[in-house]
Amino acid sequence: MTTSLTAYRARWIVPVDARPIANGVLVVSGDRIVRVADQWPGPMTDLGDVALIPGLVNCHTHLEFSALTEPLSPGLPFTDWIRRVIRYRQEQPGIVPQAIQKGLSESLAGGVTLLGDIASTGWTWADYTNAAMRPRCVVFQELLGLSDERVAAQIELAKQHSSANQPFDIVGLSPHAPYSVHPELLGAALIEAQARSTSIAVHLAETAAERELLADASGEFREFLSSLGLWREGIFGERTFADWLHALAELPRALVIHGNYLNQSELAMLARSPHVTMVYCPRTHAAFGHPPHPWQDLIAIGGTVAIGTDSRATNPDLSLWRELQFLAAMHPDMPQHDLLKLGTLTGAKALGCGSQCGSLTPGKRADVAAVSLADPASCDPVYQLLNTGNEIAGTMLAGRWVCGRFARREEAQG
Ligand SMILES: [Zn+2]
Repeated sequence: MTTSLTAYRARWIVPVDARPIANGVLVVSGDRIVRVADQWPGPMTDLGDVALIPGLVNCHTHLEFSALTEPLSPGLPFTDWIRRVIRYRQEQPGIVPQAIQKGLSESLAGGVTLLGDIASTGWTWADYTNAAMRPRCVVFQELLGLSDERVAAQIELAKQHSSANQPFDIVGLSPHAPYSVHPELLGAALIEAQARSTSIAVHLAETAAERELLADASGEFREFLSSLGLWREGIFGERTFADWLHALAELPRALVIHGNYLNQSELAMLARSPHVTMVYCPRTHAAFGHPPHPWQDLIAIGGTVAIGTDSRATNPDLSLWRELQFLAAMHPDMPQHDLLKLGTLTGAKALGCGSQCGSLTPGKRADVAAVSLADPASCDPVYQLLNTGNEIAGTMLAGRWVCGRFARREEAQG
């Protein structure tokens, strides 16, 4: 059986792993990309003044908060913000399934075709798999616990989640953060990840107070945990971020979420382990008013950085494109093509999918986003693609336009 070829001509094709092609052609067969070229002898569908880019990769979100219409006051001190999250979860106990579905469709409409989601409680696989069209997900089961009973139950949960057999999605584990995970629970999660080659994601160095807690068992988090009745003696003290980074470096693949307060020697450790990716969430980082993020320092010494939106509990939307535009506006001297790579190919590799997606490369899945160009005649995609006014106009998933104007056109044509 032969599968027919469909060729799309666009003002720009931006493969990301090669230079952009003006008036290029993307040829798709079934769910695969078969050719990226500057000309094509056969019939073509002309998409007009758009740039075709790889489907965007959102390396970090918590879809359970996707029903929120505005962030939960991210300007507050961090532990106060966590209290708000706890209260929201208590007030909205049954909202997780619909929030996950809402978040998946918002992500897909925004050009995201692969995402890393932290799943906490109140969810099932059906919340993901019921959606007919959605991004592929790496679902990291969140693990939290400081008491002996809780740790034992969470270790069981980690084992159960790691052995889930999902045909389309990928399982991961997320020992939450230094202030919420007993060392024994972290150790068990790392052993599980090592044994099964499971991805791990940890929130690390999001705040300066974590360093104080790890080193001296003191500070903001001690007060916070004590006030909730969760403080345990003997868990914290004489520990460092470097201990966590050493442990993560032993894994096949890991994500360090945020890393806002990692110092130069910790960044150097990360750089020596490029399979451990730091995930920078630019708008969330800005909303909390942290000092400048060290992502460029890490890249400069050879480390790996990918991009996430974080959740709607800290961000107004789940648009990875807006995240990249925000970065481009903050760093006008940086080639936007480099930023786009962080939000596509680097993210795909970080989530363990780099051989299947993340760039417009023959043989990879035809996961593509179309960007409408505000000024098509003069747009240089290396420096101007992320400019204000250029918007995601459509999403192709496995060779089919599923969102935006081209999906509607295909539907009309039957
Ligand atoms: Zn997070």
